[in-house]
Amino acid sequence: MTNAAKVVAITGASSGIGEATARQLAADGHHVFLGARRTDRLEALTRDIATVGGCAAFRRLDVTDSADVREFVAAARERYGRLDVLVNNAGVMPLSPLDALKVDEWDRTIDVNVRGVLHGIAAALPVMRAQGGGHFVNIASVGAYEVCATAAVYCASKFAVRAISEGLRQESPDGSIRVTLVSPGVTESELADTISDPVAREAMKTYRAVALPASAVARAIAYAISQPAQVDVNELVVRPTASA
Ligand code: NDP
Repeated sequence: MTNAAKVVAITGASSGIGEATARQLAADGHHVFLGARRTDRLEALTRDIATVGGCAAFRRLDVTDSADVREFVAAARERYGRLDVLVNNAGVMPLSPLDALKVDEWDRTIDVNVRGVLHGIAAALPVMRAQGGGHFVNIASVGAYEVCATAAVYCASKFAVRAISEGLRQESPDGSIRVTLVSPGVTESELADTISDPVAREAMKTYRAVALPASAVARAIAYAISQPAQVDVNELVVRPTASA
């Protein structure tokens, strides 16, 4: 491994932004460790990355299970000897009006988008403290800054990710832990597939017409990671130019 090469673990790497980030960072020479539930996708991605000369490995991961996230981080360390960056990317977006009372989907949104990020911090922070430094890249959304109808719970989850990220940053004044919040606008991925509400699903089709390729968000993540140790890129909002 060269000096500039980092060990980067990515949650939710089986599609969309996580997958694009894995490809981008591996192409940049980093060693990536990939987690998600669909291991067939991770296996194919790992193979693809190796085919073009990159370094990748994977493990099944459910971010709603804190012990599983701990084991995921431990496996990354075992594989590569350290963990420099954790990209807390796994997320779901089952939009619906609150009146629809989709309580199970509210719970899942909080479990994956909020608890998942906290589980990542709980697993990786002690490792990074022990090795003298590290970097969290937490994926929020433009929904971390503004709320719209059908997205109350999703936006709440992303406001939470933003708050947690800023708190973590403030608790690391010794400069050893960097925290970057990346907030994408609409981006091509499978995220809208988690919408079961027919009205919210239809509305998304128009909204998503100007979507960015996931590689645009991956490049923003790569930019934050590539900065010198004393530079912490705290917040990046990446929107399609054509967004309102
Ligand atoms: P995708 O649906 O393509 O990717 C979501 C990823 O999360 C998948 O790899 C999925 O893998 C994983 N995931 C879901 N639940 C779990 C779980 N319990 N444990 C582990 N992994 C899980 O969507 P995106 O790429 O768009 O989403 C990535 C992030 O970007 C999310 O946090 C999302 O909120 C955010 N975002 C996306 C935007 C967009 O327009 N696309 C805009 C703003 C933010 P698997 O199902 O295999 O477990």
